[in-house]
Amino acid sequence: MQDLLDLLSDTKKQLEHLRILGVEGIRGIPVVAPVIKPQRTLAPSRPKPLIQPVAEVSAPSSLFGDLTPSPTVLTPSTETFEQIHAEIGDCTRCPLHEERTHVVHTEGNRKARLMFVGEAPGADEDAQARPFVGRAGQLLTKIIEAIGLKREEVLIGNVNRCRPPGNRAPMPDEAAACKPFLLREIAVAQPEVIVVLGNTAMKNLLDTREGITKQRGRFQEYQGIKVMPTFHPAYLLRDPSKKRETWEDLKKVRDYLDSRKQ
Ligand code: URA
Repeated sequence: MQDLLDLLSDTKKQLEHLRILGVEGIRGIPVVAPVIKPQRTLAPSRPKPLIQPVAEVSAPSSLFGDLTPSPTVLTPSTETFEQIHAEIGDCTRCPLHEERTHVVHTEGNRKARLMFVGEAPGADEDAQARPFVGRAGQLLTKIIEAIGLKREEVLIGNVNRCRPPGNRAPMPDEAAACKPFLLREIAVAQPEVIVVLGNTAMKNLLDTREGITKQRGRFQEYQGIKVMPTFHPAYLLRDPSKKRETWEDLKKVRDYLDSRKQ
């Protein structure tokens, strides 16, 4: 009993210290000393339950409430790509369906160690119902081959599966309607590394306000999977001088994958 009282007293001091430092709440524990009603020494009239609540804690009106992180580890999924694609069907969930020809699904090796995620299909992809088959796609294929892989060995997908008119970036509500299917595919495939190509892909997978120029080249994480942001190949076509940095980023990906080979 004395140990418990000492522990409570130490906890109370720690919480008071945090409160003085300006901390208003810890997830699940408000920074106020828990109110413990003194136990009567007289025998209670009813038998005690085996497990008793130590203290009543109210839900925090917390400063941290809106910063609850997403789960840090991916929950593996047992669904199949076919099931996900069947559920997407002849999708009309967002306005992009109005002008598309085809829904463009993720393609490639579903057991891939490496996945590439772009923004949304362009005209060639919309016509052929395959991701990254136009000029930017041909450059992406060369990038994949430059790190010693074949296109068929990796997975290639997009945040959005329908072509935005005029190749504009998808609107946040359009991305929000489509992205869950990509995240489900990621949970099925569980790649070791995801390369996010450009700002749209990066901002939809990572919680970042900075742009691709600042973030590229540094491994980050999405639910325990390494994520490497780098420039979109369409941007490299417009500014070939950025290919050198992209190559540096991809070498890091190659080296990371090599270091994990059994
Ligand atoms: N750009 C993308 O982001 N995705 C494609 O599939 C093609 C071009």
